[in-house]
Amino acid sequence: MGSRRDFVKTSVGVSAGAALGVFPKSLHGAPNVVIRRVTPTCVASANGLEAVSLAIRELANGADTIDAIVRGVNLVEQDPRDTSVGYGGLPNQDGVVQLDSSLMHGPTRGAGAVAAIEGVKRPSLVALDVMRYTDHHLLVGEGAQRFAKSMGHPIEDLVTPESRRRWIEWRARLSDQDDYLLPAESGEPVEQFRTPSEFGDGLLDSHDGFRPQGTINCDIVDANGDLSSVTTTSGLAYKIPGRVGDSPIIGAGQYCDNDVGAAGSTGRGEAVIKTCGSHTIVELMRNGMHPKDACLEALRRIVHVTVESRLRREDGRPNFSVNYYAVNKMGQYGGAAIYAGARYAVSVDGDARLEDSAYLFERADG
Ligand code: ASP
Repeated sequence: MGSRRDFVKTSVGVSAGAALGVFPKSLHGAPNVVIRRVTPTCVASANGLEAVSLAIRELANGADTIDAIVRGVNLVEQDPRDTSVGYGGLPNQDGVVQLDSSLMHGPTRGAGAVAAIEGVKRPSLVALDVMRYTDHHLLVGEGAQRFAKSMGHPIEDLVTPESRRRWIEWRARLSDQDDYLLPAESGEPVEQFRTPSEFGDGLLDSHDGFRPQGTINCDIVDANGDLSSVTTTSGLAYKIPGRVGDSPIIGAGQYCDNDVGAAGSTGRGEAVIKTCGSHTIVELMRNGMHPKDACLEALRRIVHVTVESRLRREDGRPNFSVNYYAVNKMGQYGGAAIYAGARYAVSVDGDARLEDSAYLFERADG
């Protein structure tokens, strides 16, 4: 135990018995907890190894938690090799990239989001502008793009030669009754689809072999126990235009409560929206659950409500996966997925690595 000066009082009515790892709940829902200096910790989806490293470095250079993680995810948004996020993200069914992002800043209780925004490489920066410069929390579609333009974000073509080639093949596979040719039929080599696992994301991140999913979520706690979260994505590949996933939905794709912790998701967004996934995790942490266990419990709820036969395997389990990531105010962290094989990125005070996610089911079971 450090001296009393090492402790930061984080809520009124701090109980003398409160200690690290304990979140006794008060009537208004804010836990009475005493936090001593926390080891700066950042978690992210597995494609966020560089992002967590950068975020912790930014903290060390004096950045605020939200700026640190937004700079981290900007790396992935700008990277054309990650076809699930930002520039180079796989387009919708019309061949147009529509991006989703949301974020929350713990200390100011701020929130901002954009959904189905086109033409902006780093939608998390637009979400940040929504939080900082508007009285709103969520802008969508054309209005979001107009706002982005007004804030000085360049409007660019986000389709890369690689993402266009994949979309062309997807379109050709839709039907053998139309006039679009498969690359094999036109003499081109058949495209071998890369999966998010190339970015370290483990297995079953697509719920259909030709429609890979992926996203980056990033959550951080600094030395004072202040928190922030951000999620950014191009969403489900080849989606119906206008489809919005969980990523820009506050409480679904990410959630942060500076009294408790931050959490976020990747994977099938519809399942996360339906269960208010990230908010659920934060509430479970508020009640004292470890981040890893809170992630697992939120996944159990998804399994429980997945009753549609089109979404279930023969054994009744979901035929998709969801990954959750969480960190609490004390610097405890965890990640979990429905099926074994997933990993997540973590940096604890600058030591960045991939760790295995906890899971509900072995894939071999199915
Ligand atoms: N959660 C994202 C969405 O549903 C996609 C993903 O993470 O795979 O839009």
